[in-house]
Amino acid sequence: MRRLQKQFNQDYNSIRADSFRPFSYMYTEAIKHYLSNHGFERINLKAVLFDMDGVLYNSMPIHAESWHQVMKRFGLHLSREEAYMHEGRTGAGTINIISQRQRGRDATAEEIEKIYAAKANEFNDHPQPPVMPGALEVLNQIKEDGLKIILVTGSGQKTLLQRLEHSFPGIFHEELMVTAFDVKKGKPNPEPYLMGLKKGNLQPNEAIVVENAPLGVQAAADAQIFTVAVNTGPLPDKVLLDAGADILFPSMPAFNEHWKELYHAVNDKVF
Ligand code: MG
Repeated sequence: MRRLQKQFNQDYNSIRADSFRPFSYMYTEAIKHYLSNHGFERINLKAVLFDMDGVLYNSMPIHAESWHQVMKRFGLHLSREEAYMHEGRTGAGTINIISQRQRGRDATAEEIEKIYAAKANEFNDHPQPPVMPGALEVLNQIKEDGLKIILVTGSGQKTLLQRLEHSFPGIFHEELMVTAFDVKKGKPNPEPYLMGLKKGNLQPNEAIVVENAPLGVQAAADAQIFTVAVNTGPLPDKVLLDAGADILFPSMPAFNEHWKELYHAVNDKVF
């Protein structure tokens, strides 16, 4: 607990220069900062929007490995670490960035189709990624609190989307899901999160986003939603904070452990 709190405060120091404070103070500060940044009077919480990869499933190591291997097969270089930086982009978006850098041109539609199909196959050749520890527990808490739960993912990986009901029974409903099949631009554009708000009939200050990727955090922050970053991967916390996260937890179990305090801070206080 002490170690976790220290880590929290260190993360926060990088943007707030606070010294050691209780968690509740930190939540209050984060909420205040969010409200003044976006010109809202309060958060009237009705829903939590969840990203999928790296939040609900520990799938990012397999995505990163698959991208790296498949790009190599097509004569392109994408390191595993860089793959984490592109998390949340559409497949075409990622392929074009690498193609531009290496070949000075966008990939053709045919190349994109081939590479993305190969990447999806490579992903499926790996064992199924495990459910992220803490994910089911926090989803159940949020459901019991009477909040809507909305999925907002850039993924078009059908094997994972079809596993959701099995992994998280009774949590996700098709009418409250945004996937790669719904969006044109994808993260870091706010489009997927704006679509999530629309599907839930929500204003930006009626929701919280849970994200693990810098581009996802950027999309959520640009959609003016209070954004919780969970750092489940290898990137430094600073990358997520700089992308616009309002608060950062070092893991999903930590988010689960502290959900109630955050929920009360959002609900009980009028700023
Ligand atoms: Mg993610």
